[in-house]
Amino acid sequence: MPELPDVEGFKRVLAKNALGKTIDQVVVSDARILGQLSARTFASRLRGAKLVAPRRHGKHLMANIDRGGCLTFHFGMNGALQFVQNRDQEPAFTRVRLDFAGDGCLAYTNKRMIGRVGLAEDAADFIADEKLGPDALERGFDFLAFTSAVAGAKRDVKSVLMDQKIIAGIGNIYSDEILFQAGVNPAERLDKLAPSQLERLFLEMRKVLTTAIARGAGSEQFIERMPEGSLLPERKKGGHCPRCRSSLKAFKVGGRTAYCCPRCQGC
Ligand SMILES: [Zn+2]
Repeated sequence: MPELPDVEGFKRVLAKNALGKTIDQVVVSDARILGQLSARTFASRLRGAKLVAPRRHGKHLMANIDRGGCLTFHFGMNGALQFVQNRDQEPAFTRVRLDFAGDGCLAYTNKRMIGRVGLAEDAADFIADEKLGPDALERGFDFLAFTSAVAGAKRDVKSVLMDQKIIAGIGNIYSDEILFQAGVNPAERLDKLAPSQLERLFLEMRKVLTTAIARGAGSEQFIERMPEGSLLPERKKGGHCPRCRSSLKAFKVGGRTAYCCPRCQGC
């Protein structure tokens, strides 16, 4: 499931290949991905326009439309954004394709159709409508802001990290990595953490996510790009702690499977 680092990668695909190019054709192969929006309205808002100012917020990607409004993407379980030079090379499970005048097209793929492509008035409106918390890496989201975002959450720390209304961007996979690096038990209640643990959690959140982006690691693809000592490549049945080699433990926390090291995280 795409998380913040994956979506940052999709943003770079868009920024590198699609910005400022005139869209001359919009192909919607499966309109269910647009929700209530009709394919006709969607296409007419984009045809002849250009995308500008891409922005990621949590797991959402947005780009302004030069003549007004904003294009939004959510990647659900296994959505992705790819750029191909030729329309004939359209990737499998392409649901929406933007063809640019001259050359190339941007393909939104989504095998399981969980996710959404849509239109909004502007990015700020969209973020408010979706009730998203601050992006985990946004400027100004410092330790003080983090503390106030999570204050009052009397739940296990893993669920709090994954709650998009509290902090946007972290999912099942990266929450495990962050908790491992911080040495925190995923099932521990957030309000029971010592201030020093909370600070370590915040610092590791930033470090893990920026490292993943810098190395081009995702949540399912390219996890081997994470540095030595990362949990992710071992995050599977029979996996071992990269630090102490103990067998990792897997159990349900808030409905999701957490992997952690019993020795390093006391789980
Ligand atoms: Zn360990």
